[in-house]
Amino acid sequence: MTDQLRVRDRVKDKVQDAGNGAGNNAPQQATRQAGETLPGYDYLIVGAGFAGAVLAERLAHLGRRVLIVDRRPHIGGNAYDRYDDAGVLIHPYGPHIFHTNSAAVFEYLSQFTQWRPYQHRVLASVDGQLLPMPINLDTVNSLYGLNLTAPQLEGYFASVAEPVAEVKTSEDVVVSRVGRDLYNKFFRGYTRKQWALDPSELDASVTARVPTRANRDGRYFTDTYQAMPLHGYTRLFERLLASPNISVMLNTDYRDIAELLPWRHMIYTGPLDAYFDYRYGRLPYRSLNFEHVTLPREQAQEVGTVNHPNDYGYTRVSEFKHITGQSHAQTSLVYEYPTAEGDPYYPVPRPENAALAARYAADAECEPGVTFVGRLANYRYYNMDQVVAQALKVFRDLEGEGAATNQAATEQAKGAGQQDAALAVAGR
Ligand code: FAD
Ligand code: UDP
Repeated sequence: MTDQLRVRDRVKDKVQDAGNGAGNNAPQQATRQAGETLPGYDYLIVGAGFAGAVLAERLAHLGRRVLIVDRRPHIGGNAYDRYDDAGVLIHPYGPHIFHTNSAAVFEYLSQFTQWRPYQHRVLASVDGQLLPMPINLDTVNSLYGLNLTAPQLEGYFASVAEPVAEVKTSEDVVVSRVGRDLYNKFFRGYTRKQWALDPSELDASVTARVPTRANRDGRYFTDTYQAMPLHGYTRLFERLLASPNISVMLNTDYRDIAELLPWRHMIYTGPLDAYFDYRYGRLPYRSLNFEHVTLPREQAQEVGTVNHPNDYGYTRVSEFKHITGQSHAQTSLVYEYPTAEGDPYYPVPRPENAALAARYAADAECEPGVTFVGRLANYRYYNMDQVVAQALKVFRDLEGEGAATNQAATEQAKGAGQQDAALAVAGR
């Protein structure tokens, strides 16, 4: 048997496995069967995270035949969750809290899950105290032993803020609002640990994700919709991928099968530079090592996440039961250790990286029959809701086209202005 025939057999087995719901968390109803000849697909989707799964669902709903491939052994991408050995629901790739201002995104996902209302709270360990993050009235009063009112706090911020002519960097954002001392205590160390860069070397958008408040609002997010999928993310993804028009192939790099199966259009959600074999050099993506622990007690910390800006190799510790609402005699936590090597988790927002990403994005625009969607493929620091919003926008553009021709569908996607659509819909 030739090598190619062997690979063909393997592909056929995998497609049949997908159809039979085999494999960890493969959707039970994904029933496309491979017969003697391999099936043809309208869409090959690379990556079963939010970007890929939402597009698979939408296209299958239109009657398109979709093959979705992921090199990991599960669906869900970085949002995947599972029960650990103790029976506690955990997020293997770090805590994922759903929040959005987009009614359209929330309503779309509500077709596939019920929700548990949840408002995330974070404390930062600073100077021996656990203080609310984002910085608010309680943070400042406790830190300095003061009893300021909200207007007095605004006056205090104004008195310590450093004038910055043009806010460009992650340092500028913070020092121009709350001054050097709060910046040093809450942001500088955390950011250097997380990114291995000084905040002055990162775009303003990074620390601007975390606001500063003069009131007593202790929530991490203030979005209109804040809720967790009642039965977890993986269940949500199983329902997204449940159509008989969708086949799921896990443990598979798309490069191993792309030339062996007929398909008309590719949706690619992996790293942008990897698609082009790093032809212009590597885009920096920041990675994390996750250390998961289970403790023999009901609760370990007061809130969902405790940040450690100034001590230890980890940035934060999250306790899942706060986030998922699960009742259990034991509790599981995850420690996040930032690292340069490993799976690409975060694009690194700074001008030279944006310039390199723009070179790749220009090539992506011209790639016939391929649409690039999601956080890694657009090299954008997107939250989950922004990825869903982008995928829905891309779908609307592809929808008019059906699966006519690769080139025509690419033209449609090109016209979408897709990269910023999500930000407009789901800005925080
Ligand atoms: P991904 O989920 O990364 O999916 C891409 C998939 O493509 C992966 O499963 C990968 O295996 C697959 N793939 C790549 N290359 C190939 C290939 N060659 N062949 C086959 N498959 C391939 N967002 C929030 O809204 N709230 C949060 O609280 C939150 N917390 C986060 C915490 C951490 C630690 C991280 C890293 C991210 C967090 N996010 C959060 C962001 C969220 O994870 C992303 O917005 C979202 O998961 C991106 O979805 P995606 O489909 O674009 O990419
Ligand atoms: N940040 C910080 N101190 C904190 C929390 C956040 O300096 O206590 C900065 C840090 O640079 C971080 C960024 O703000 O990477 C964004 O924080 P967020 O919690 O949004 O990060 P994510 O959940 O995406 O990892």
